Amino acid sequence: MSVSAAAIEHLLPQTQCRQCGYEGCAPYAAALAAGTAAINLCTPGGDTVIHDLAGLLQRAPLPPADAAKAAAPKVIARIVEDACIGCTACIKACPTDAILGATKYMHSVISDECTGCELCVPPCPVDCIELVPVADAWLPRAGVAAAPANPRRGAADYALERYRKRQDRLARQAAAKAARLAQKRAAAQGNAAAAVQTDSGRKLNPTELIAQAMARAQAQQTQRQSTANRNDFQQQQLQREQERAALRRAQRDVQYGNEAERAAALAWLKAHKAAENGE
Ligand code: SF4
Ligand code: SF4
Ligand code: SF4
Repeated sequence: MSVSAAAIEHLLPQTQCRQCGYEGCAPYAAALAAGTAAINLCTPGGDTVIHDLAGLLQRAPLPPADAAKAAAPKVIARIVEDACIGCTACIKACPTDAILGATKYMHSVISDECTGCELCVPPCPVDCIELVPVADAWLPRAGVAAAPANPRRGAADYALERYRKRQDRLARQAAAKAARLAQKRAAAQGNAAAAVQTDSGRKLNPTELIAQAMARAQAQQTQRQSTANRNDFQQQQLQREQERAALRRAQRDVQYGNEAERAAALAWLKAHKAAENGE
């Protein structure tokens, strides 16, 4: 007889605790439907769930795989708030969003929402989450309170709803993050594309861009060189004019100056001639 995974899943406690060895109630249900899992693996469900599974799947009942734990009281998590460092690791681990807190702030378990799945305990880096035994037959308490006539059903439905809401939220957050990243990538690509457009709109490849940059650098260098040459030329012209003026002054002084001016002019003319001759 074939039984749907959905019908099997409906019998499970929905704490998503993974104590069955599967990633949650749905995967365990799928394995049961496929006939690849034993019916006694759900510790929170204990004998009650095993009995129901045996009936639905028409298999012989078995004792719980972890009999000691299945017989032990259920637990609710409690955070020793003074020790909490606000790392948020427990929030990320809680499948039903039963923990309140924010980064670097004290965290608290909403005890009525806690299913006792224990998944928040291992990630806590400071071991400040305690598991407090309780007398409740089914958790979370908020689910039991919502359906007192059928506490098992109420607890499972409540936990499943919380779990699904969390999954939806995580999916929305992941989609929003992916959209933001895609937007950033598109913007970066747009900038890169704009950077390789010429004024005429023609696209250039990187080799052309490098060649253009080198040509621009060369042109700037040439311009600087020509400017330097022009400055040198002007300086030389100025010096030549100054020398001509000095020569004219010396010639004038030799012809019309007094004794001292003539002597000085003669000395200058001698030195000038020697310099011209490279002496
Ligand atoms: S509640 Fe049972 S079936 Fe669901 S994950 Fe936990 S052990 Fe597995
Ligand atoms: S707070 Fe409760 S429901 Fe959440 S992970 Fe811890 S034990 Fe599980
Ligand atoms: S994992 Fe531990 S330390 Fe980190 S926020 Fe939760 S309770 Fe606090």
